[in-house]
Amino acid sequence: MAEQRNVTVFYDDRVLHHAPDVNAAFLPGRLDKRIRGILAGLNVPWKYPEHPGRINAIIDLLRRELIAGVRFESGKAATREQLARVHTTSYLDHVFSMRDKNAWLDVDTTAVSPGSVEAAEVAAGTAIAAVEAVVSGSSESAFALVRPPGHHAEPVRARGFCLLNNIAVAAAHAQAELGCQRVLIVDWDAHHGNGTQGIFWADPDVMFFDIHRASPFYPGSGSLQDVGAGLGEGATVNVPMPAGAGDVAYLRAFNEILVPAAEYFRPDVILVSAGFDAHWYDLALNVSFEGFAAMTGIVQSLADRLCQGRLVFVLEGGYNTESLSRGVHSVLGVLAGGPVPEPRVCGMEEVEAAIAFHQDAFTGE
Ligand SMILES: [Zn+2]
Repeated sequence: MAEQRNVTVFYDDRVLHHAPDVNAAFLPGRLDKRIRGILAGLNVPWKYPEHPGRINAIIDLLRRELIAGVRFESGKAATREQLARVHTTSYLDHVFSMRDKNAWLDVDTTAVSPGSVEAAEVAAGTAIAAVEAVVSGSSESAFALVRPPGHHAEPVRARGFCLLNNIAVAAAHAQAELGCQRVLIVDWDAHHGNGTQGIFWADPDVMFFDIHRASPFYPGSGSLQDVGAGLGEGATVNVPMPAGAGDVAYLRAFNEILVPAAEYFRPDVILVSAGFDAHWYDLALNVSFEGFAAMTGIVQSLADRLCQGRLVFVLEGGYNTESLSRGVHSVLGVLAGGPVPEPRVCGMEEVEAAIAFHQDAFTGE
């Protein structure tokens, strides 16, 4: 068994106050009419999928099944100046004007409730707190348990349940305030991190590696040929996957694309946009809990070799609360020094046992 490591989970319950309820009265207007029309066409009641129960399920499991080495700390709100490193002033003005309101922000059904703006500020600030802890050395690694998620949020636009781009705010803070020149962002959420990619598209000092389900799956971006532009050409690495791709393909992408890319780039800190909707319970891809743990083992060993172990996870998506909570738990187990499993193709062990069981049945002897 490897040596125990300390991991800090950053969590602030203000992130629970973001809870859009589509039955409440929203700000009237064109966006409201349009989205109500879309939802009415579904012919089934629609609930906001990115809800506080996601975080509650994670916290419950972490309290029920404690992991030695994991401790909790509270988060904090990001300042406007910190957010303005990756979002435009006019966009921030618009988001802040939504304080205490129920409203749609985007045609893709991204919405706010009265507590959402503060929750989003706290989500971004808590990602910053996690990076500060790891860079200062007060924690070996950290996990920011936040929502609303961030990786779809663009400099000027909320999208995909994301208001502010938490991981991008944290990366920009590491560069501006913490002496990190180069930041590697690994995004394994099932959806492409269009927002993060756009923010650092022409930036040679932020490498963005994103493995995701390929277009036309939401948001439709992240093709293999999208590699960044200008000085940032080559610093964006997309690995689009077909529906149902799982552990074996993911680990091959990590070992044969991410590892050499990271070794070439030599980051000062590694951030992970950790979504758990790539788990098969979310029905888009086929990653298992052992797969998430093994991917964690790979980024942890990269961080150990390249940047004094500095490794920060920031929660993104994951909508089945069981796979979400269990996925976070399996990541934290590895961060805390637990064993890194070697995932096998699902069912192979059972097939081998069945072969052994039946092998003498049909030989006629
Ligand atoms: Zn996602």
